[in-house]
Amino acid sequence: MQYCKYHPLDGATYYCEQCKVHQCDHCVDDEPVLARCFVCGHNLESLGSGNKAEPFWRRLPEAFKYPLNASSMSLIVITSIASVLAMLMPFLWILSLLLYLFAAGALLKYSLTCLEHTALGEMKAPDVLDAYQGGISLLLKLLVITVVLVLLVGAAANYLGPAVGGLLGFIVVICFPAILIRFAQTESMLEAINPMAALALIGAIGLPYGLLMVFILIMMTSVGLLQEWIGQLFPAVSYVFQSMVSSYYTLVVFHLMGYMLFQYQDQLGYSARSDDEEEQPKREAADRLAAQIQVLLKEGDYERVVTLYYQAFKQFPNDARFFDQFFELLYTCKKTALMADFGSTYLHFLNRKKRTDKLTPVFKQIRLIAPDFLPDAPALRVQLASSLKQQGDVALAVKLLNGMHKQFPDYAELPQAYYLLSTILEQLPNMQAQADKCRQMAQQLEKIAERKKLAAAMAQAELATNKPLSVKTPGRSPSAMVTKSGLHLELVPIEPVNSAEQAD
Ligand SMILES: [Zn+2]
Ligand SMILES: [Zn+2]
Repeated sequence: MQYCKYHPLDGATYYCEQCKVHQCDHCVDDEPVLARCFVCGHNLESLGSGNKAEPFWRRLPEAFKYPLNASSMSLIVITSIASVLAMLMPFLWILSLLLYLFAAGALLKYSLTCLEHTALGEMKAPDVLDAYQGGISLLLKLLVITVVLVLLVGAAANYLGPAVGGLLGFIVVICFPAILIRFAQTESMLEAINPMAALALIGAIGLPYGLLMVFILIMMTSVGLLQEWIGQLFPAVSYVFQSMVSSYYTLVVFHLMGYMLFQYQDQLGYSARSDDEEEQPKREAADRLAAQIQVLLKEGDYERVVTLYYQAFKQFPNDARFFDQFFELLYTCKKTALMADFGSTYLHFLNRKKRTDKLTPVFKQIRLIAPDFLPDAPALRVQLASSLKQQGDVALAVKLLNGMHKQFPDYAELPQAYYLLSTILEQLPNMQAQADKCRQMAQQLEKIAERKKLAAAMAQAELATNKPLSVKTPGRSPSAMVTKSGLHLELVPIEPVNSAEQAD
């Protein structure tokens, strides 16, 4: 058995010729249809689930747990009671025969369904309601198959001698599980009796088929033994109990037969996937991208990892795992340039996801890796600054707000930002003068903003009436005012930060 290179505890299902690497279902690109290597893009060689499936005798504990669920157990109990009731009323023989057929038919239909589902990789017992209809006709078909086989053996013994008859009988007994399997798969009598098909099945499975026979024999003997023990003590309970135990064993055996089909699917020429490992039938594009990132990360191909992360941010802007993982990666690997680039994206993401409690700690983490980092959006800076002010980290708050009127001259909330800055400066020792200047600047900015608003309103009115308005001062566009007024407002120095740090 081969294991996945990236998940050393999981069995491999694919092999890449190019990379000489084994992979599991999780670590391959399964879009659109053919599996391809995440690393080199080559088509992969499928190893099938047969590689992963453990032999059936190792699965015995699971097999015995298979019928232990409410649905299967209630069917076992009901059919057992029904068939015992049928035996207890011989006077109404038609009714009792019907009841018996109904009970046995339901159990047979359910057993065949179990086999089929297991062969397709479903390791949990199906719902009883799935196996509700057609039980009696299946039972009659199986009865016909058995009668035909018995007649064949009898005829052989009669016409060709007891030796040939005995040999044929032996072969029929050996083939009987294979015939049952074929019957479950096709629900056709002719297909089931076809000796070549049964022999081909036995040939494909090989020695484990013999083990299954031994196993069935042990179970049948144990039912007989149980009956002898309990039958002597409580004859009345004995029938119900015996019927229940044999029904239970029947389900276990049909599950095991189905499991053998699943295990030898490659030799039998079909392909099924186990649902044991809670694998989804179809992966989401985001999950596939996440899986590829994990593979490339384990391969150490960081350049492609970064490219894929940026692709993920665009494609899945609401998928937290990509943002969180990439941030963790940059933080642990101390990638300064990448962190400076990604920092604002991550802070915006946290804001968008209402994870505001994370904003300041993440901001500080980013600055540990990229010391000069400041967010690229003025609103985010103000938001961070007011949180930091509340937390008492005034130095960092000043850094965030300082010089904003130059970097974001068009930001509408500039006055509020500077009022905030002035209240922060007031908290610092020897900064009263600066705080006052800052407040003055905020007031000036407010006036500019008002004038700007007025000018914009007038420009709009002008557009609407198509008449020039004389109120407007000539040659002064709103942006020019900002630049002009901005020039003499350059007052807030970087020093308060240093003095604050000294004060701390
Ligand atoms: Zn894997
Ligand atoms: Zn490859």
